[in-house]
Amino acid sequence: MAGTDTEEGRARPGRIRRLKKSIIFILVMAILIPTGVCVTLGIRYYVTHGKTGELQAQAQETARMYTAEAPDGDMEGADTKAGDDTDRYTADGVAVSKRDSRRGTEETAGPDPLPADGSIRKVYLTFDDGPSSNTGRILDILAEYGVKATFFVVGMEGESAQASYKRIVEEGHTLAMHSYTHKFGEIYQTVDSYAQDLSRLQEYLYDITGVWCRFCRFPGGSSNTVSRVEMGKLIDYLDEQDITYFDWNISSGDATGAYISEDAILRNCLADLPRYQESIILMHDASNKNTTVQALPALIESIQAMENTVIVPITEETEPIQHIKK
Ligand SMILES: [Zn+2]
Repeated sequence: MAGTDTEEGRARPGRIRRLKKSIIFILVMAILIPTGVCVTLGIRYYVTHGKTGELQAQAQETARMYTAEAPDGDMEGADTKAGDDTDRYTADGVAVSKRDSRRGTEETAGPDPLPADGSIRKVYLTFDDGPSSNTGRILDILAEYGVKATFFVVGMEGESAQASYKRIVEEGHTLAMHSYTHKFGEIYQTVDSYAQDLSRLQEYLYDITGVWCRFCRFPGGSSNTVSRVEMGKLIDYLDEQDITYFDWNISSGDATGAYISEDAILRNCLADLPRYQESIILMHDASNKNTTVQALPALIESIQAMENTVIVPITEETEPIQHIKK
């Protein structure tokens, strides 16, 4: 009995060690397998999420457009959705699909066909939604190249904004109106609400600069789909006030809420430019539009390198580009 006890006594620690090893192995696997699965699924999620990120951003912009209550600075996306992401417009104001527009560009022989009649091609650089911290940077660049542009401004209080309005005028650019509040949900309720917003801006700018603005651009463009008032009625109102509205036939693409690179802005601006006798380029000088500022020198140099082409500000003589023709 004593011998048996001794054998059992020797065998037991060995069995216990094996048992311990098995338990530890099971425990480790129980932790490692779910962890591995989680990591794999996590990686897959982020890869998919990255791909859909841009689509989600676009969807959010579209949603904002329809809620029409986005705060200032988020409105630029609405401009895009209203006019340039969905449709582009020929100089005649006829909407063409983006695909058609691209095909047209590819078919254009050479990068710089001259206007058929040998006349001067005019390019208008226009900036919406300022003034902001970027307006001064843009004015510096324009001054450096001796170029005049057009600023469709919003109503901003404060000394630096007021200094920007004045600088725009003093340096020979065209000061034009966009909207005082830029709040779609308020301005597009009735003709009166639109009129109140615009005349508030007109008077405010007159008080600061002494300029009685006669040019404007509708937030979202005249082809916006958020206005609860028929746009034709607002256009009638502008006619009565002797105010001319301007849309655009080239979009820099900087209106989107998502990041857009300097190169993409440049490509968007220059792709269709050779097709038009007159180009009104839509850009934004809101505080978050840094790549627009960065793209500007190369854009100006590229346009100036085109034959028979000048960059000019909007004046009484400018033939407006309007998405809605009455
Ligand atoms: Zn705007």
